[in-house]
Amino acid sequence: TVGTLIVGGGIAAVRCAERLRRAGDTDPVTIVAAEDGLPYDRPPLSKQALLDSAVDRPVLKSSEALDALGVRLLQARHALRLHRAERRVDLDSGESLSYDDLVIATGSVPRRLPLLDDAAPHYLRTWDDALRLRNALRPASGHVLVVGAGVLGLEIAATSRALGHEVTVVDAAPRVLPRLGGPGLSEIVMALHEQHGVRFALGVTVGSVIPAGDGAATLALSDGTRVDADVVVVAIGAVPATGWLHGSELAGHDGVETDAACRTRDDRIFAIGDVARVERSPGVHERLEHWTSAGDTAAVAARNILARRRDEPPVQLEELPYVWSDQFDGKLQILGTIGPDDDLLPAVDDTESGRWLRLASREGNLVGVVGWNMPAAVNRCRTAIAARAAVTDVVTAAPWERMGRP
Ligand code: FAD
Repeated sequence: TVGTLIVGGGIAAVRCAERLRRAGDTDPVTIVAAEDGLPYDRPPLSKQALLDSAVDRPVLKSSEALDALGVRLLQARHALRLHRAERRVDLDSGESLSYDDLVIATGSVPRRLPLLDDAAPHYLRTWDDALRLRNALRPASGHVLVVGAGVLGLEIAATSRALGHEVTVVDAAPRVLPRLGGPGLSEIVMALHEQHGVRFALGVTVGSVIPAGDGAATLALSDGTRVDADVVVVAIGAVPATGWLHGSELAGHDGVETDAACRTRDDRIFAIGDVARVERSPGVHERLEHWTSAGDTAAVAARNILARRRDEPPVQLEELPYVWSDQFDGKLQILGTIGPDDDLLPAVDDTESGRWLRLASREGNLVGVVGWNMPAAVNRCRTAIAARAAVTDVVTAAPWERMGRP
């Protein structure tokens, strides 16, 4: 037996290897990772790692821990091509690795904005990207222009403000967090940023760019304004890393489609994490770029690799989408799937101590919750969201009250 081959090396790959071992798999497990060095975690890269020069690469597993798990890590190797019929993957090192089961965990890469190429903008995905941006943000009191008002763009904006920069965020969408939650959430989050001095140009695109050297540039915006930026950061989303799957018939227009068991159309091949378009409810495939989804899908794939070998029925992904974001001195958390038409009802509005909680209601049922500095309360709403409880019942039960006041 040649065991499981996991292509990736991020959180999804590492969690999958751990889960295989935890479930008693004794067959070989190999991770092929494009980046050099040990697997590391990405969330700190837009937060602590930018704020504090003393913060080192947030390693997920030491080589001793990988050895103890019996996981072979092949670093600095790109998978180039998948040969499904022969169950083999070619690497750029010239090696060709066979597998019994393959896990696609190659994540995603930043969506580029070619218009800005001459200005040498920053993108933030890897540890090297973070070091480069950290250096650029060192001399405080510059002007940072962030293109993209999604979660990552807002985190970079908050961090840049905390470091003492002027910050302008530009987005073509009319509101912040355009792909997350609805307008109600956008308003609350934008107000928070404005309180901290972040400026916004929304519903606006970059028209032209005059580079000024050293990463600085003057940008002309579609609303007629010009911005002189010392640092330009582009955070306009990510695209799945599927180039190496060309010709395999597994990668579609937006990632690798799987069923709820994280299986692709090839029953020996699974896809997890940012790269996977998983069937999250019957007939609905969605790609989530959330840290917890990477772990959840990794666990399901690991279970199902063993289920196939043991001739057991597959387990299905049962997840409540969850994303958090650290901005300024607070923690924003969104649990559940909140659509643009859902109502956000205030449950806690404790502005004095900087905490609030909103219940997302769809036709009277609880579909999600958004919290600011209320982690225990958010967690306590989990069962009610999963059950789609009536919001009136949830308000009466007030699960957030049972956490005790600070
Ligand atoms: P990745 O982390 O992208 O890992 C995939 C790995 O595969 C990469 O190392 C890549 O080099 C490698 N690879 C790609 N192609 C190949 C190939 N052909 N051969 C070999 N290896 C290859 N989520 C949250 O929920 N909360 C947060 O606060 C948060 N903050 C974030 C901050 C930053 C700066 C970033 C970039 C992301 C953040 N995320 C956050 C998202 C979260 O980190 C991702 O959802 C998660 O990293 C996805 O894990 P993954 O293993 O699927 O993919």
